[in-house]
Amino acid sequence: MKKNVVLLGPPGAGKGTLAQRLASELGYLHLSTGDVLRDEVARGTELGRLAKEYMDKGELVPDEVILSMVKEHVGDRRGVLFDGFPRTLAQAEGLAGIAPVDVVVYLEIGRDEVVRRLSARRVCPKCGAVYNLVTQPPKEDERCDRCGEALVQRRDDTPEVISRRFEVYLRDSAPLVKYYEEKGILVRVDAARSPEEVLADVLRALRNDCP
Ligand code: AMP
Repeated sequence: MKKNVVLLGPPGAGKGTLAQRLASELGYLHLSTGDVLRDEVARGTELGRLAKEYMDKGELVPDEVILSMVKEHVGDRRGVLFDGFPRTLAQAEGLAGIAPVDVVVYLEIGRDEVVRRLSARRVCPKCGAVYNLVTQPPKEDERCDRCGEALVQRRDDTPEVISRRFEVYLRDSAPLVKYYEEKGILVRVDAARSPEEVLADVLRALRNDCP
């Protein structure tokens, strides 16, 4: 049976890249709350206008806003990869009322590596593909391999906002490691490696019905 999987870890741990690959490998739904919010911002919706205030500063969008958004996207689906959600204990408790969580993959990585990665991250504004100028550069100078669009840097990948996002992660999201560990569903993965190595470990864990 398809599982519901939470990808946990600081910004820059590689949650998005891993989720994209897992989604195509397993036929799961990739639900990135950050991507949904960025889309709302781009479309200038009421939710987008509200979310932008928080996102530009590296702060978290209020729990109740996130929970109703997630509920709407998940419906009664199974086989969902939650990327960037939950980010607080209140969100984790809210999620329990929306969908069961089978496995939590915790991508472990240090602060220095996160800062290095996020500073070199580039994204395609058209198709959402993610690159890293150092470790995963596009084939052609700062253009998307898939659709040829010029790559951009995310508004919140600036040094000050990266630093704030990391602090917010330590304060609000790191406690989720213990929360899910106590439930016996947490798998730790060393994320300071190549996306291929991380993907292989995670697929093995999911297929072995770990933990
Ligand atoms: P991400 O793409 O996951 O790094 O998210 C980018 C920004 O969107 C975060 O810094 C938050 O401002 C907001 N955001 C994304 N997911 C959540 C969430 N689960 N709870 C609160 N804010 C979120």
